Amino acid sequence: MDDIKNIPIEKLKGVSAKIIKPLKHLGIETVYDLLAHLPFRYDDFSHRAAISALRPETVATVRVRINSVANQRSWKKNIMITTALVSDATGNISAVWFNQPFLTRTLRIGRVVYLSGKVVYENGRLFFQNPAYESESYETKSHKIYEPIHTARLVPVYRETRGITSRWLRYLTHNALPLAERIEDPIPQEIIRRQKLHPLAAAIISAHFPKTLEDARAGKKRLAFDELFFIQLTLLKNRAAIKTLPAPQIKADIEAVKKLLAALPFTLTNAQRKAAWEILKDMEKGAPMNRLLEGDVGSGKTVVAAIGALNASLAGWQTAVMAPTEVLAHQHFATFSKLLAHENISVALLTGKTAIVFDPEIKTEYRPKKSEVVKMIKEGRVAVAIGTHALIQENIAFKNLGLIILDEQHRFGVKQRAALAQKSIPHFLSMTATPIPRTLALTAYGDLDISILNEMPANRKKIITQIIAPADRDGAYRFVKEEVQKGRQVFVICPRIDPPAESSGENISQLELNRLEIKSVKEEYAKLSERIFPDLNIAMLHGKMKSREKEKTIGEFKEKRFDILVSTSVIEVGIDIPNASVMMIEGAERFGLAQLHQFRGRVGRSEHQSYCLMFSETDNTDARRRLRALLECENGFELAEKDLAIRGPGDFFGTRQSGLPDLAMASLNDAELIKSAREEAKKLIKEDFRLSRYQKLKERLQELTVKIHFE
Ligand code: ADP
Ligand code: MG
Repeated sequence: MDDIKNIPIEKLKGVSAKIIKPLKHLGIETVYDLLAHLPFRYDDFSHRAAISALRPETVATVRVRINSVANQRSWKKNIMITTALVSDATGNISAVWFNQPFLTRTLRIGRVVYLSGKVVYENGRLFFQNPAYESESYETKSHKIYEPIHTARLVPVYRETRGITSRWLRYLTHNALPLAERIEDPIPQEIIRRQKLHPLAAAIISAHFPKTLEDARAGKKRLAFDELFFIQLTLLKNRAAIKTLPAPQIKADIEAVKKLLAALPFTLTNAQRKAAWEILKDMEKGAPMNRLLEGDVGSGKTVVAAIGALNASLAGWQTAVMAPTEVLAHQHFATFSKLLAHENISVALLTGKTAIVFDPEIKTEYRPKKSEVVKMIKEGRVAVAIGTHALIQENIAFKNLGLIILDEQHRFGVKQRAALAQKSIPHFLSMTATPIPRTLALTAYGDLDISILNEMPANRKKIITQIIAPADRDGAYRFVKEEVQKGRQVFVICPRIDPPAESSGENISQLELNRLEIKSVKEEYAKLSERIFPDLNIAMLHGKMKSREKEKTIGEFKEKRFDILVSTSVIEVGIDIPNASVMMIEGAERFGLAQLHQFRGRVGRSEHQSYCLMFSETDNTDARRRLRALLECENGFELAEKDLAIRGPGDFFGTRQSGLPDLAMASLNDAELIKSAREEAKKLIKEDFRLSRYQKLKERLQELTVKIHFE
């Protein structure tokens, strides 16, 4: 049988040479690709009506005869208006189109057509505005039987590109639809049976030309299952493959861990204990650890990671710790130095400009040249090297890297890891404070083992969260003043100003964004220090400051040298200032839920009652609904689920950043579907890791692996 993956699209009737390139732009090169190009929505034109029954502001389909049609140039705006007068047995009505003068050639007088679209009432009369149109019947050699495809039904709407309209794609796809029967179903029959999946060809037909929305949903669901299933197969295969590679076998040194814990001013939560245990067990195996440590802000991930680093160091292996910002790298440096000092473990910080070494013997820091620290790492004289994510890319060689800890970045390819070590693959621990809803975690990070810190340290108080309306601003300022008088400190976050809506395609440059953010920080800083709190000490922090300055500012804030820190979102991740008790967020509606929750996590880190005050002037209902979710919910995981439900997976992930195919992306709210796809994939791999009994499946998997980028 001719596989339609091998039929080039130009073999289809109506595909001319000049259309091949734009089709390619849509990812359509073969007939198979065309059928895989699914509509992203449907116009519901299934409501048919007689002209006399038409009502204003409704969408309807009429079957009518064309009585007249003419073009006219509008003198107000320079546009061409086509007007047709049409009738059926119950009456007549007009239809108007803008800038489609060629319609006079298609809509010939006397012809019977369907018109589908919105009925509008203006100047005392009803008319169709820009309706879809379609001859009721036409006969060509290849087409005799006819059903409407552009009107009078659920009409698929496709992603378009220059030179290719949705209407044309619909026509082309409809002609090619019978070829769907030729696609060999790659999913094993027993899975289809167990999961009660639609046959593949039927699903494709339903997705393109559904009879009902339910039909469309079922079709897309089958196709989404396929995508999710293949993703899971890929992830689980990778996961299994990684486990066959050699890694440092590091025996857990329980005595040393106990010593570290005994030196802490607190006891670990059960969740921390469990996560640390999972990490130690992983590192004992001699196969690379591949673990994600997921825990809400303040749940105490750092100490868990440090336990891993401690064990690696004691066994003679180096650890690299990478943070998303310099500020955080500095903070990690301080924490790790302190936690590991008693075991004489040398810790170094290496960022763009700064190099600091903590000498455990004399328990002090010193600042050698950067090149000296690079050399020390290479010679193995530094056990724990801390930096930003650039640490590893900067040509820094390790003597024997055994563990990589990544803060707030989830992936690090096995190849990258292998390149950093000589004989074995370093263990890998990724930390995230972005609570990822379970379904997303399984899909996006399904190749990682996950440890979850779902429990906060016991000394934490609930953070009182409020939305502050403009009228209550003065009261909020008075409150801030009282908190400062009690000895507490305050954060003020200024929003990143949104890029102009026009430039939605091309993102505004990072530089420009910085400029706008800084402007708002500077303005706010000036306002607070000159007018509102002239007697308080205020400082500001933004991404444009030199790292030394940032470091200095944060250090001083920690030492209580000033009361209020006005900052951009650089403060978002990780900063730990336990004495701060108020988080004020200006323009709160501009931030996502997850981000707001992160900000809120900057306070409430000590025994002091803390507050999160969100200033918002918006009356947009969606925005207010989002903000209210923060009032009701303090658990990051729950919030993440809500964020996902409100914004949808696309926004949650950041548009198109996930590398997931569209349907899989759209199905990320469907926990059941993801679970069954994962279970089936697991079962299959367990039975037949090489998939040798499933040739078709294997081929399809290879094709997809090329397309989906996980690293
Ligand atoms: P995150 O998970 O956000 O990275 P951190 O590791 O920065 O959290 O920890 C936040 C704060 O909580 C730190 O000051 C840390 O010392 C403290 N901490 C960590 N674990 C506990 C615990 N079990 N009990 C009390 N405080 C803890
Ligand atoms: Mg952290």
